[in-house]
Parts: sequence; structure tokens; C-alpha cells
Amino acid sequence: MNVYPSVVEAIGNTPLIKLRRASELTGCDIYGKAEFLNPGQSVKDRAGLFIIKDAIARGALRPGGTIVEGTAGNTGIGLAVVANALGFRTVIVIPDTQSQEKKDTLRLLGAELVEVPAVPYANPNNYVKVSGRMAEALAARDPKGAIWANQFDNVANRQAHVETTGPEIWEQTGGKVDGFVCAVGTGGTLAGVGMALKERNPKVTIALADPMGAALYHYYAHGELKAEGSSITEGIGQGRITKNLEGAPIDVAFQIPDSEAIPLVFDLLEHEGLCLGGSSGINVAGAIRLARHLGPGHTIVTVLADYGTRYQSKLFNPEFLRSKDLPVPTWLERAPSVEP
Ligand code: PMP
Repeated sequence: MNVYPSVVEAIGNTPLIKLRRASELTGCDIYGKAEFLNPGQSVKDRAGLFIIKDAIARGALRPGGTIVEGTAGNTGIGLAVVANALGFRTVIVIPDTQSQEKKDTLRLLGAELVEVPAVPYANPNNYVKVSGRMAEALAARDPKGAIWANQFDNVANRQAHVETTGPEIWEQTGGKVDGFVCAVGTGGTLAGVGMALKERNPKVTIALADPMGAALYHYYAHGELKAEGSSITEGIGQGRITKNLEGAPIDVAFQIPDSEAIPLVFDLLEHEGLCLGGSSGINVAGAIRLARHLGPGHTIVTVLADYGTRYQSKLFNPEFLRSKDLPVPTWLERAPSVEP
């Protein structure tokens, strides 16, 4: 058994889990990287750790200093876990549309939470821009200093996946991986894993699974940033080429509607015991599309990005699902079949 000096060392080295039904359906070996097993229950612990390590190494972050970030939640949770372990404070700016569970988790971890209305990136009151301004103001007045994590354009985020997630996938598959696919929030995961795998084997196919409402599918498929529709998924869906996406080796792009992704989330829970968030549904749908694109007999890896309890009030709430015209899983409304 592993013994670690702190929770920080427990980040990463997550298992690959075979996705049985997706594999049977396509004749490929499809695996999910179980990122929900990180201490903060998402893939973003890795980015949080690398951003903080980089800021310490640059001398930008000193003991007792503050980390400020705008986040859909998971990066904030990852930053708060690492910050608590290493002796820093966190101030997190979150759009009010994100799930209550993520906000509650951030508060319970001791992060100072600032909720702002969800407005587009071009608006100066967008959560990312608010967090940048707050970091600047805090750095000027707090003697212990403050940094802006800036996950979208800070490539320490992508570096986490270049140095850890990508090499782990390569080793776990014995170098036999044929394709990797995932959705993009900052692009750190897709670009970083893509770069690490391409470096080891340029023939690996790197694919984007884009939710509706994001602009990247049209960019990588047709060269133009263009968004259409919307998605209930959280933490993904990008409208611009972030610094983390620059130079990402993306071979193929798929656009995945919620009607395709959300039933997969329920299916994975019911039949494979995997309780996941909505972005994992987009990722697994992307893995099935990539399997069909490559043909049977290939090994494909995707990301199981975070745990489903984070979305109980939305993705697993019958009322919410009905309001979005999405199917309601039978067990969520089932009466007990046996008498007490
Ligand atoms: N899934 C979830 C649930 C997330 O929170 C995020 C990050 N915001 C992603 C996927 C996308 O990861 P990345 O930022 O590396 O593109």
C-alpha cells in the first residue's frame, strides 16, 4: 500500500477503468481515467497542484499568501485542497449558475467564495476577469502576497497533464493506446495529454469531444470559432483558443449533444457502478464516436472527470431533468419494492 507524507502526493496516479458497455458496443477497448478518485474528486487537482508549485518556484507565492481564481468549481476545489495542505489561502470567484454542491464544497474547504452572475467572456464582469482584478488588488494590499491562478492561460495547467496524466496513460496501456478523447474547459487536459502521447507515438489520434454551446468543434472541424445550442454540463465548453489550447495536437473533433451524453452518465451509473458528472458523459460519448471513427480493435482512453454527487441537485434531479427535456432515470423516482 502507498504511504504519503501529505494529501498532495495522493493527487494523480489514478487507475484506468474499462468501460464495459462502450467497449462491447464498439469492439474497441475503451478505458476511463478515474480522475474522480483524486482527493478533490476531479481532474482539476492536477492543475491546481502544478499551478501552485509553479508559483512557488517562481517566487510569486510565499508562505501565507493567497491564491485567487475564477472557476466553474473543480479547479477551486483542487486549489483549496493543495493550498490548505501547503499553508495558503484561497479566494474563489464562481458563476452563480454552477451547482450548489460545488459551492458548498468550496465553502467547507475554507475557500472565500465570491458568486458572480454568469456573463460571457467578452463582458468585463465575467468571472475570469473579476478574479484577475481581485488578485491584482489583493496583491497590492496584502503583505503576504497574492497570485492569480489564471488556469485558462497559465500553461502550468497543461504541464500537469504533459508530466503526469499523459505519461500515466502511456504506461497503463503499455504504449498500446490508439486514441485519446476528452472535452475542453481550459484545454489543459486535452492539450497536455495530447502532447505527451504524440511525443511518444505520433500516430495516436487525439480527439476533441465538444458539448453544444461551445465554439471549438467548428474551429477544429471548419476553422471558425462558432457556438450553437447549449448544454447542462459544467466545467467544459470553451469559446476561444486559450493559451493552454495553443498548439494542441487535435486530429478530429466531435460535437456531442446532451441527448447523447446524459443517458450515458445514467447508464454508467446503473450498469457499471460509475457515478460521474455530465462532462464524463460528453467524454464517453466522444470515446464511442472515436471508436467508430477508428474502427474495431483499437484502444481508446478518455477521462472520468469528476464524481456525480457534485451534481445531485441538477443532473440527478428529476425536476431539473424534465425542465431540460432530458430522460429521468427510473431509480431516481422509484418507490421501495419491499415493505419494511
Ligand atoms: N470536466 C470537469 C467536470 C471540469 O471541471 C473540467 C475543468 N473545468 C473539465 C472537464 C475540463 O478540463 P480542462 O480544464 O483541463 O479542459
